[in-house]
Amino acid sequence: MSFRDLNLNTPLYNAIDDLGFTQPTPIQAEAFNVVASGADMVGIAQTGTGKTFAYMLPILKNLKFSKQENPRVLILVPTRELVVQVVDEIEKLAKYINTRVLGVYGGTNINTQKQAVAQGQDIIVATPGRLYDLAVSRVLQLKSLERLVIDEVDVMLDLGFRHQLINIFDILPERRQNIMFSATMTEDVDALITDFFTAPQKVSIAISGTPLENISQTKYSVPNYYTKLNLLVHLFQDAETYNKALVFVSNKRMADRLFEALDEFFNEELCVIHSNKTQNYRLRSIEQFREGVNRILVATDVMARGLDIDNVSHVFNFDTPDYPENYMHRIGRTGRAEREGQAIIFSTEKEQEGLEKIETLMQMEIPELQIPTEVVISTELIEEERTVIKERNNPTKRKDIDAPGPAFHEKSAKNSKENLGGSYKFKIAAKYKKPKTRGDKNYNKRNKK
Ligand code: AMP
Repeated sequence: MSFRDLNLNTPLYNAIDDLGFTQPTPIQAEAFNVVASGADMVGIAQTGTGKTFAYMLPILKNLKFSKQENPRVLILVPTRELVVQVVDEIEKLAKYINTRVLGVYGGTNINTQKQAVAQGQDIIVATPGRLYDLAVSRVLQLKSLERLVIDEVDVMLDLGFRHQLINIFDILPERRQNIMFSATMTEDVDALITDFFTAPQKVSIAISGTPLENISQTKYSVPNYYTKLNLLVHLFQDAETYNKALVFVSNKRMADRLFEALDEFFNEELCVIHSNKTQNYRLRSIEQFREGVNRILVATDVMARGLDIDNVSHVFNFDTPDYPENYMHRIGRTGRAEREGQAIIFSTEKEQEGLEKIETLMQMEIPELQIPTEVVISTELIEEERTVIKERNNPTKRKDIDAPGPAFHEKSAKNSKENLGGSYKFKIAAKYKKPKTRGDKNYNKRNKK
């Protein structure tokens, strides 16, 4: 496919020529018609695949020249660095088009940004918090918004922005196109799509189900978390074999729990990364793991995505991902540069479905190993392992493990109502010395002498 097949216009072709691009990347080719059609879309693509232009090409092609002040396109990204980068990319692509683009993010003077907004903009690129502040201040009017793009939504949710996003959805016009990009599919991303998107079309560059030849894979059937932990501790005793092991878990709560448990055994050899850790902490952890100071790194899918670390001896799937793509990404961290790598997956009974999806994608059955007899099989369960009934589609009842604490407007103790049962009536009656009624059989019962 060439850019000519996308039926763009001369200003865009000229900009693309200046950039030196010869053909659309796969995600650009796949996403173009969907975005252009106005349908809601979920794109699964990692940084570096050309995803920014995948949504900007159709958006810029269809954005008519206008002098109106209110923006028509809003692009939300998780970090200020990304705001700067996306604005930069748009400016390159819109070099020969008369389009007004503004990037806004927190930690900078809001008044300067208010003035820039007031001048009138076509496209706003923003972090969620600052966008909301500008909208609440009424300087930024979102009523003319036609398209909303949320980029890196997995990172955004991992950083705890779910509530901010929902607040923003509330102030956007209902009739709009939603476009979202995520590198990994997570439960949180899935829930957001179900709750707020209308029949979105999914666009992804098919992940290859063929793992690298030099990765050898094995699986263990393990009944529960504590047995998984015992097995991992048992295997890690052999420091020579497991000399650089990356342990994947699906969320930060599990990362913390596992880190604390392993810390008792492998204190000096262990590090962890997830989004609740500061950037400095994460960078230090990665550096120590890369250099071999620590031989075990516990990580979540989202945070480990951009990791570029060589010589990983083992990738552990401490839990079985629900989305087989995540498994392929995880194990791709080992077996690099012609070296042999080992991928090991632990699955409980409940995780068998995920395991089957992985094996179907790869069209192979992963060889199974038996739990060594020395490993203690635990019967204790953690909270998540006790059966819970999930009301998937009820946003008001969703138990969000990443939700922040209670809202500031939570009722104070003295104002909160308490159900005191039937006796409350009598307490009040006694307090205000209400007359007794002859027909009050409870009263009569209690005072029968
Ligand atoms: P992104 O995935 O959007 O972060 O883009 C990664 C890099 O690829 C950026 O530096 C883009 O300028 C570049 N890029 C985007 N589209 C193309 C293309 N069709 N051909 C070559 N490079 C591209």
